[in-house]
Amino acid sequence: MRMNQTTRATIVQKFGGSSVGNGDKIRACAARAAAAARAGSRVAVVVSAMGDTTDELIKLAAGVSDAPDRREMDQLLATGEQVSASLMAMALQAMGVPAISLTGQQAGVRTEPVHTRARIRSIDTARLERELDAGKIAVVTGFQGVTDEGDVTTLGRGGSDTSAVALASALGAGECEIYTDVDGVYTADPRAVAGARLIDRISYDEMLEAASLGARVMHIRAVELGKSAGVPIRVLHASRAGPDQPGTLIVGDAMALEHASPVTMAALKTDIGRVTLVGLPDRAGVQREVFAPIAQRGISVDDIIQAPDETRDGSVCTLVFTVDKTDLAEVRPLVEAAARALGGEVRVDLGLAKVSVVGAGMTSQAGVAATMFRALGDAGVKIANITTSEIKISCIVPEADGVKGLNAVHAAFGLDRAPTPVVVVNTSAHAAGR
Ligand code: ASP
Ligand code: MG
Repeated sequence: MRMNQTTRATIVQKFGGSSVGNGDKIRACAARAAAAARAGSRVAVVVSAMGDTTDELIKLAAGVSDAPDRREMDQLLATGEQVSASLMAMALQAMGVPAISLTGQQAGVRTEPVHTRARIRSIDTARLERELDAGKIAVVTGFQGVTDEGDVTTLGRGGSDTSAVALASALGAGECEIYTDVDGVYTADPRAVAGARLIDRISYDEMLEAASLGARVMHIRAVELGKSAGVPIRVLHASRAGPDQPGTLIVGDAMALEHASPVTMAALKTDIGRVTLVGLPDRAGVQREVFAPIAQRGISVDDIIQAPDETRDGSVCTLVFTVDKTDLAEVRPLVEAAARALGGEVRVDLGLAKVSVVGAGMTSQAGVAATMFRALGDAGVKIANITTSEIKISCIVPEADGVKGLNAVHAAFGLDRAPTPVVVVNTSAHAAGR
């Protein structure tokens, strides 16, 4: 009996908040899930909360407390997805399609005991498998799970994507479809860059860089999970997707296309806070004292730069890093405490943005940084910091120049033009011809 069941392919479809913003939209998403089920797949649906529900719940909390308890925040925020999941199940049932909604807990999603940004530890799919094998569409609340103690947790804003990919991995789904309000992944945010184009395939690594650089297409942890679990992720428009609008497929390097241009996309991240620690003793262990307390809170830090302070005989050093502006309030007292213990001083700068280019092709092509610096220089944009990785270059610039810098860089790499097709030489045919 089991054998018969496992021959059916499993697909996970995730619908974002804007895609389930009202009853009509929920019915349209239900129709997509129903079509996949009728085509023979086992279908698990993951939903976000309707529209701005999560923001509104956060406002409600702010109305009763200046510093709401994180556990209670999770109890509150998790309700948003319960509303959309149950409505989605009802919409499916009304179409004559068997369906059942499941909370994170009912779907077996276990997380670490961290409130408001928990990570998924495991998914016990027994219940899910049972429902799917019984021919039902399982509609799972995104963004949440439960601790071993039975407390509800949430995964951080935008976390439903991660729920979906985790579920796709646990269920052995062939693909995780992320339905959203954009047609896929663009060469830059089309609201900021008129010539931005849709990308048909992109690698996990490029997507990871893009997400950490402010491309708001997907939750970064969803891409990390897709990469480690080998789950192909397809980003599609919830109402426009179809055979001629297949969205963007995020896959491993080997399956992403050969790169004609060294750069695949450009990104702009605003709301950056820069923290500078000066006068730190230049000795082993300093970095740990500064960053360990930040890491313990689960806050991620970008772009760490350290330099010896040449004016002070090299015995002291300066440490500079950036964080999301929203994390600054939490980070500031931590670094101030570390600086006090180490005898240094802290400076915090706001009003900054980061313009970046990303491309797996840049590892093998020279001159990418030079092109970027020229583009920003010609546009009159001053660069305050530069960081690079193998597949990205980022420049911190004044926030007011962010959009201008992004456009300049996008044009400089020709991202507004259709990519040049790459000629693949078939070496085996070559060999046979000799
Ligand atoms: N509803 C949550 C949020 O708005 C989770 C999600 O949408 O993915 O952040
Ligand atoms: Mg949302």
